[in-house]
Amino acid sequence: LVRAENVHKSFGLIEVLKGINLEVNSGEVVCLLGASGSGKSTFLRCINHLETLSNGRIWVGDKVVGYRQDGDRLYELSDKEAAKQRRSIGMVFQRFNLFPHMTVLENIIEGPVLVNRVKTAEAKRHASELLARVGLEGREHSYPRQLSGGQQQRVAIARALAMKPELILFDEPTSALDPELVGEVLDVMKDLAKSGLTMIVVTHEIGFAKEVADRVAFMHGGEIVEIGPPAEVLGNPQHDRTKAFLSRVF
Ligand code: ATP
Ligand code: MG
Repeated sequence: LVRAENVHKSFGLIEVLKGINLEVNSGEVVCLLGASGSGKSTFLRCINHLETLSNGRIWVGDKVVGYRQDGDRLYELSDKEAAKQRRSIGMVFQRFNLFPHMTVLENIIEGPVLVNRVKTAEAKRHASELLARVGLEGREHSYPRQLSGGQQQRVAIARALAMKPELILFDEPTSALDPELVGEVLDVMKDLAKSGLTMIVVTHEIGFAKEVADRVAFMHGGEIVEIGPPAEVLGNPQHDRTKAFLSRVF
């Protein structure tokens, strides 16, 4: 479903991604680990076209991220087309970026109604289903400030799901939460993984990676230095950087 080929990204003179190659199959859950500054967020942002690549290419499904294909020619997307492509990929960030002035329901239906032209009644029905799925039935009319961090993050997940994405990217979805709220968000993510959604998850939750990931990738200095099943990468790391990182986490 996702194919990243030789992805490079520089900010000015600093090369942050130095040739990332990654393929993610439909239904697969890949966890990205790595020290702060190793380029994890930047890579996710490239998949979602929140950043443009300095070099390389990323496909999601049959589409080249950031481009429209016509025959064998590629045309850069306009801002509007890019925004639409971006919305077809779910993204959940560390900070629950819900719109504070909108209710939970309004937050969830905004994308489907405005971007996908779904009828409001249908979008509301689907939103209520999704709220039940993330354990928040009946909270349609709450405002984000009336919810705990864990609840807000579950609304953010419901909002991403409302666009019926094939792929959801998670960037440290639990690291801004109080410890006692982490579990409820990870549980929702586990359910999504089981349901066959394709997920790329940047996380420091090693337990989650061990239990849920099909593969774990370890990033260092803008490269994936090690990738494989969790039992291998976490249980028997080969790369010095992975070993050092894991010894600090455990
Ligand atoms: P963390 O675990 O702290 O979230 P990360 O692995 O997600 O780290 P990135 O946020 O991808 O790391 O950042 C990688 C490097 O790129 C860092 O050195 C960062 O300072 C730099 N960087 C990221 N975004 C920009 C930007 N917009 N302009 C300049 N440098 C940037
Ligand atoms: Mg980051």
